[in-house]
Amino acid sequence: MNLRISFLTILISSLLFVSACGRKNQESRKVTDIQSVKKEWALAVHGGAGAISTENLTPEMDKEYRSALNEALATGKKILSDGGTALDAVEQTVRYLENNQLFNAGKGAVFTHDGRNELDAAIMDGSTLAAGSVAGVTDIKNPITAARTVMTKSAHVMLTGAGASEFAREQGLEIVPPSYFYTERRFNELQELLKKSKNGTVGCCALDRYGNLAAATSTGGMTNKRYNRIGDAPIIGAGTYANNSTCAVSATGHGEFFIRWTVAHDISALIEYKGLSLKDASELVVNEKLVKAGGSGGVICVDRYGNVSMPFNSKGMFRGFATSDGKEGVFIYRDELMHYQE
Ligand code: ASP
Repeated sequence: MNLRISFLTILISSLLFVSACGRKNQESRKVTDIQSVKKEWALAVHGGAGAISTENLTPEMDKEYRSALNEALATGKKILSDGGTALDAVEQTVRYLENNQLFNAGKGAVFTHDGRNELDAAIMDGSTLAAGSVAGVTDIKNPITAARTVMTKSAHVMLTGAGASEFAREQGLEIVPPSYFYTERRFNELQELLKKSKNGTVGCCALDRYGNLAAATSTGGMTNKRYNRIGDAPIIGAGTYANNSTCAVSATGHGEFFIRWTVAHDISALIEYKGLSLKDASELVVNEKLVKAGGSGGVICVDRYGNVSMPFNSKGMFRGFATSDGKEGVFIYRDELMHYQE
């Protein structure tokens, strides 16, 4: 009899507990949903994070970077507002940034220790989790397009070095002599920075009107890198990640930390498993976990509602966003906007 009563008590209290947990989950879900009004499309770009402050950026350079970021935004905005896909928007926006020598990707890539340019890039389709990346390539004009071609035309996710070039050539992509990536500014930078490393990368995240998210990142890596070092940018889940059920993320910063802390996927996982908002998830990873670890840098991310977050823990990050509700802007320093959520 006693046994029966206590069994019943345990059963009833377990049922009550399970239903309370369910209610709590539903409530927190609802809060996230109410906070987030879905936008038709949204776009975020970055042009690298690092020791960027008003002390080391002249007003002319400040203007130059802002206008380049605006051009990049205009590229993606046109595609999204015309009904194009998030994948096209992120690829074309990053191509624009790769061709602009202000940024450490494509034409403006930094130099390795032995005076070469080795480029990394990745792209991911949040609707299928298809992804493609190239790493350590030296003669592909637009590594982001090579990454997309790896995703769509090969059976693999990541190709490196000479093999990646061979594949790009076979696919008819534009091949340039390695000297194409030579810019005086970056070469001089290497001479000055042979002892110190320097950051800078480009990336783009987008949500299209079909509910698809995509992310793309492209970089020359870190100045003075050696031994065919590969950073986080071409590693899916570290510097680049997209998943329609959570968010799209593109990172910039000290790649070794972003790889070890699987930064881009961690943000997505916090949204998926813990129900955090984009803002809370990205802040937790960038301004708590990475800060504690000593990893400097930042991310841009867009979630499935079109919210945008661009947190970083370095002095500055070249960044910008635009959404279908007419909000947009480009920013550089810490006292400017990092999150847009409505
Ligand atoms: N994350 C890039 C890398 O480590 C560099 C950067 O973003 O500045 O290769």
